[in-house]
Amino acid sequence: MDFSDRILSWYAQNKRDLPWRKTRDPYNVWLSEIIMQQTRVAQGLPYYLRFIERFPEVADLARASEEEVLKTWQGLGYYSRARNLHATAQRVATDYQGTFPATYKELMDLKGVGPYTAAAIGSICFDLLTPVVDGNVYRVLSRYFGVELPVNSGEGSRYIADLAGQVMSKESPGNYNQALMEFGALQCIPRNPDCLACPLSDSCVALAKKKVSQLPVKLPKKAVRKRYFNYFMPVDPDFQTLLIKRKDKGIWRGLYEFPLLESELELPDEKAEAQILEGVFTQLNEPLKFVKCNPIPLVHKLSHQHLFVTFRILYLGHGLRGGVPITKMQSYPVPIPIANFMETVKNSYF
Ligand code: SF4
Repeated sequence: MDFSDRILSWYAQNKRDLPWRKTRDPYNVWLSEIIMQQTRVAQGLPYYLRFIERFPEVADLARASEEEVLKTWQGLGYYSRARNLHATAQRVATDYQGTFPATYKELMDLKGVGPYTAAAIGSICFDLLTPVVDGNVYRVLSRYFGVELPVNSGEGSRYIADLAGQVMSKESPGNYNQALMEFGALQCIPRNPDCLACPLSDSCVALAKKKVSQLPVKLPKKAVRKRYFNYFMPVDPDFQTLLIKRKDKGIWRGLYEFPLLESELELPDEKAEAQILEGVFTQLNEPLKFVKCNPIPLVHKLSHQHLFVTFRILYLGHGLRGGVPITKMQSYPVPIPIANFMETVKNSYF
């Protein structure tokens, strides 16, 4: 048996029973691939079921409002994926009359669909010979074939991509791609894989050379950026607050948040409170008092940045223009630290 046969045979006995594996419908496969990017199955599965229930067809997703889509996505992070999901559903509904395109080139042209996702959809739904290449694949192929080039270098990633194409199953490309991913997720895991129980152990180069823990080789990552988010939740005498839609290109675009003062370092209370009153948000003048809700910033970790987040409630003596009733604030799509804060303050402060 060659590599691909052995991977397929392992998959037949060990694969997890997941709903998107019971269909070759491109809508379901695409949805699962977008949701599962950078997400564990246990976390992504409820979202997949929620999306399919709420938007059974691509046309249903295309017709939804952006806020409805972001709200359904809330908590998964990487919100640009949700916006791209929506844009692609609209494109498929209009440009392709609701039927996903069947070529790699056309799939790659859809928003939010990169080489990995296009390869997965192409192979699973249309039997295209397009190998998927991601962290799992880098790890399995590096170890099994003993590749010592750094996988996050141009040369290393090209080498693995070529190798992935050579060793893939030509008869069953979709199953093979899923099998390789599953093998990386369950058997050839990043730390301490159970090589004694591995059906590929007799021909694995890393195991023979005692290099399992050293492969794949990776160049050091760039430093994580620290950002300090000071949120002010204004509350007027009618128990209204203010939510502002984020328009920046960076994180959380399109989601709502309380007035924000971002700083490079943690701000002392007086400085933060003075700055917020210095006309940053003119509507918030004449506060009666500030209440700091978390004396120690909570840390929200994203892939390349750590956010140190504090929340203050700011009681106002006057009504807010465009205010949102506190009883309705949780219906808005918001980043997860704000959703958690809303849940806490709803019960503790009002
Ligand atoms: S023997 Fe170990 S390192 Fe090699 S493929 Fe199997 S699990 Fe991975």
